[in-house]
Amino acid sequence: MAWLHVRAPRGASPAATSVCACGRDRYATGQRKVLALIEDHAAHRTVCPLRSPERRNAA
Ligand SMILES: [Zn+2]
Repeated sequence: MAWLHVRAPRGASPAATSVCACGRDRYATGQRKVLALIEDHAAHRTVCPLRSPERRNAA
């Protein structure tokens, strides 16, 4: 399972952590990088080896 933590304290740069059971562990700070990480996290959910049952037949 993948999960995403985003923190955006006032007066400080936002930070995000993207973790997945497949071993993915990403951390980003700064609004631009956090937004990029959020998009990357969403994209990962479609390509994660643990979440792609339809590719089970790939030999
Ligand atoms: Zn994954």
